Amino acid sequence: MTFHELGLIKPILEALTDLGYEKPSPIQEKAIPPALAGRDVLGCAQTGTGKTCAFAAPILQRLNGEIPAGRPIRALILTPTRELALQIEESFEAYGRRLPLRSAVIFGGVGQQPQVDRLKKGVDILVATPGRLLDLQGQGYVDLSRLEIFVLDEADRMLDMGFIHDVRRVLKLLPAVKQTLFFSATMPPEVMDLVNGLLKNPVKVAVDPVSSPVEIIDQSVYLVDKGNKTRLLAWLVEGLDVKNAIVFTRTKHGANKVAADLVKAGITAAAIHGNKSQTARQQALADFKAGKVRCLVATDIAARGLDIEELSHVFNYNLPEVPETYVHRIGRTGRAGHGGTAVSFCDFGEQQYLKDIEKLIGRKVPVAQNNPWPMEVFEAPRDARGRPVNADDAEARAAAKERRRARDAANKAAAEARKAKQQAAAALAEEPVPAPEAAEAPARKRRRRKKSGQSQAAEQAVSLEVQAPASGPEPEQPKKKSRRGVRQQRLEDTMPASPSQPQTDFYKPNPLDGDVILDATARLLAPRPRTLSRPAAPRREEEKPARRKKANAQPGQEKKTREQASAKPRKEKKAEKPAAPRQEQPKGSGRREDGRRRSRGRRNGPPEVMFRRDSQKDSTEQPSLMKPYYMTPDD
Ligand code: AMP
Repeated sequence: MTFHELGLIKPILEALTDLGYEKPSPIQEKAIPPALAGRDVLGCAQTGTGKTCAFAAPILQRLNGEIPAGRPIRALILTPTRELALQIEESFEAYGRRLPLRSAVIFGGVGQQPQVDRLKKGVDILVATPGRLLDLQGQGYVDLSRLEIFVLDEADRMLDMGFIHDVRRVLKLLPAVKQTLFFSATMPPEVMDLVNGLLKNPVKVAVDPVSSPVEIIDQSVYLVDKGNKTRLLAWLVEGLDVKNAIVFTRTKHGANKVAADLVKAGITAAAIHGNKSQTARQQALADFKAGKVRCLVATDIAARGLDIEELSHVFNYNLPEVPETYVHRIGRTGRAGHGGTAVSFCDFGEQQYLKDIEKLIGRKVPVAQNNPWPMEVFEAPRDARGRPVNADDAEARAAAKERRRARDAANKAAAEARKAKQQAAAALAEEPVPAPEAAEAPARKRRRRKKSGQSQAAEQAVSLEVQAPASGPEPEQPKKKSRRGVRQQRLEDTMPASPSQPQTDFYKPNPLDGDVILDATARLLAPRPRTLSRPAAPRREEEKPARRKKANAQPGQEKKTREQASAKPRKEKKAEKPAAPRQEQPKGSGRREDGRRRSRGRRNGPPEVMFRRDSQKDSTEQPSLMKPYYMTPDD
């Protein structure tokens, strides 16, 4: 069978030839003809079978022709993850490069403006993740009322990731008459519920069940202790002449650690998981695809749906608990007919997982004999009460606990510093102050303080000067300096002295610390460490008059300056009433009516949490709730 025989038009055939597709894959052979004829299709196929082309080619062909007035969205592809959404849109671009159709992709985790701009220009085909689609639809940027074709991709993962309600909300936005193409690797009852409500007399197409890659992949397992796994991995990456590999770890912490250890061993590696920012994930993937990074160390969820062609090796650094996951993982190598190598590590505690895998695939995974670090520990690790524990989970939990402890300590120190500052300010407010100074604008006060306190030594000298009993009338200027110096000194005495203690009002992690990767915006918004040397002060001094000048010239900015000035006394008032703070705010403030947290604008200061911490779960990191249920070709 050829693509030509499937009835595809010349521009699409040429694009497929350009991509090196010689003949259709089984899912393409079965799904393209009915989809071209306008029938609903229920496809049971997983990523790697060529299912994207199976729906993209017919969509492009059916939409080709006259573009309706207003250029409405005529095809929507709903997919669970950002990575998958990007890849599908890239495929539409590639297959439709000789057609005048426009496609766009929208997904969360990044700024919406570029996506909105693209939508405003008009798109024929929209690829979307559910959350961002609903968001933009709610804002009026997406109109689905003229939709002709709807694709629900990876429906089982939608359920798995808890997107079912969002999917149902999207379905309500679609016109009743449309063509639906529905793809899912598995068909659990919840998916079948969706199918029954959505598809009309569908053509069912199923390709090889999920265990098919097992046949063509060279598999082996190394029985090795947990402590020797990284050493063995580095040895194998060099020894097996690995071109590019995905290394699967059980935890995000493990992914970071393995990537770092590989780098230490001189092997280029990057970690990819739900705690990394979208930018960091895309960068890691791009570097891997470009060959700049040899090993991509990933958690299962982060790796699913990644379209990486010609992956030479898959390493199971940890064996998965769910045996089907093993098949998914090794299926990443040997894609589109290419053979590949899958190497697994199994420590004593993982032996049961290996047995489960072998039961599922119906064969033994050969144990590698050339193992320089054979297993020596024949005892599963146990917790303090003697119960067996998973060592990797325990390690990840300990690391998370340590991070939490450091964060709590920093928060506590910051709270104490804030309290001390408030007390000092309250004490100062009670002290009798000469009238002219009290009336002095706070900004001016600060400037003067800076002048008088260029260095700590100078400040101390001033302070000593005040403490000495006045032996006679002092010149006016030094006396004023002394009073300010004392106040400043007292204030600073109440603040944390150690540079390691945070000097911000609330703890914010340093973006350059540890494995935290922020995208560019977050990096800009992140707090700079406040050091005692205050190197930026002289520049601010220079900038201020210029700014004031500008404010005088521009009425809008003048208003802003007035607002700023009026904001100051309010702050001082707050200092007088330290008991006032948050409880007095109306309950639920900072939250939207729907209970979700309102995003905090720059005007209110940077958001308290700039990026995910370990305690927060990324939606892509939810454990599977589904029981595998595979549709057979007879279903
Ligand atoms: P998919 O299952 O759609 O994610 O496709 C998996 C991979 O197979 C992608 O890299 C496609 O570019 C590739 N592919 C899809 N169809 C074919 C085909 N007929 N011949 C060769 N490669 C294909």
